[in-house]
Amino acid sequence: MRIVLLGAPGAGKGTVAKQLTGYDGSVQISTGDILRNAVKAGTELGKTAKGFMERGELVPDQLIMDIMEARLKDPDCQKGFLLDGFPRTIPQAEALKKLLAKLNIKLDRVINLDVPKDVILDRLTTRRTCSNVDCQEIYNIKSKPPTPDGKCIKCGSPAVQRADETEEAITKRLETYNEKTSPLINFYEKEGLLKSISSLSSEEIVAQVKAAIG
Ligand code: AMP
Repeated sequence: MRIVLLGAPGAGKGTVAKQLTGYDGSVQISTGDILRNAVKAGTELGKTAKGFMERGELVPDQLIMDIMEARLKDPDCQKGFLLDGFPRTIPQAEALKKLLAKLNIKLDRVINLDVPKDVILDRLTTRRTCSNVDCQEIYNIKSKPPTPDGKCIKCGSPAVQRADETEEAITKRLETYNEKTSPLINFYEKEGLLKSISSLSSEEIVAQVKAAIG
């Protein structure tokens, strides 16, 4: 499948993408994970991105497009991909459209995860993420806790609160989403690609995505 997952931070894009990757060999491409890996590794990209990310702002479009152009050309994307957290602005969506046309790739669907704001806020403050860059499993201290001593169940690394999950950064990320990313719903509606799903259960969302792509 070739899909874009849209939705506010905490809407469940990462969780749903991880569950869908086993379905038909499509890979999850999370620009957030790529950037967090770059920050940890201390690369030039990471050094540039760090400040934007910690403040809850978006990293400049051109940097993101450079990452995505290279990533979509990787051979493992041939079976399909789930774009998680990209595109995030209208210029990114327009650049993606051009890039896909150049690569002769057609998007199947754009899935919008429509989750109420109170649920989003609760999820973001209770989320924990595995600190191992090769794992990044997502936990929630209420609904899917890590081990009692705070470790990832899959790989044993500490499951931690992300640097951008302070109350201040969360507020900023939600503002950024409303201002810059939510216009994409209209953009993809006009393209005839949009499907909105308002379920809160990731299993139910996965089932609906599978049904939507046939
Ligand atoms: P995420 O894990 O998707 O919530 O992304 C974490 C942070 O990485 C965001 O708050 C942004 O600072 C940055 N980021 C991720 N994806 C993008 C993107 N497509 N465009 C710009 N910034 C991004």
